[in-house]
Amino acid sequence: MARGRADIANTALRIFLQEMGAAYDEERGLTPYGGTKDFAKVKEFFGGRCCYCDVELTGLSAAQDHLIPMNKTSLGLHAWGNVVPACGPCNATKQGGDWRDFIIQRAGAQAAERHARMRAFLNAYRYDPGRDLREVASPQRQLEGGRLGGGERLQVAHHAGQPQHLVPKGGELGR
Ligand SMILES: [Zn+2]
Repeated sequence: MARGRADIANTALRIFLQEMGAAYDEERGLTPYGGTKDFAKVKEFFGGRCCYCDVELTGLSAAQDHLIPMNKTSLGLHAWGNVVPACGPCNATKQGGDWRDFIIQRAGAQAAERHARMRAFLNAYRYDPGRDLREVASPQRQLEGGRLGGGERLQVAHHAGQPQHLVPKGGELGR
């Protein structure tokens, strides 16, 4: 099946949010988030438990969930502080929902305590979900190296709905 425009735009947006996440990590003096060792560290913060329902993840396949979803509405980054451990059922049901509401749904009477743990996590990594993405891509970064600045990358994301921009010369999509 050929990929629709929406799929291609979503893929481009994910790549953009991953790269912005790496830039945001570097700006906070962190090595860009990635790999199982980093996820182990995140799991450790939550005591090896699902950050939403608190089930023990030992022996279960833990998912790397993005607390702030990586979609065009929420613009969560793939970065330290936004990747959290979730059990399979929580990961499958949260989708694009707000994490505060989802914790209330999953944690019931323990919601306040679970919210506090999450806030401690966000504080530990100084992840600020309300932050303007343009601040992450500083003018300094745009001058250094061959990496695109935030403005240019945003344009790439916005133009990603036009498949011809993503087709390599002589290549074809959707075969
Ligand atoms: Zn869970």
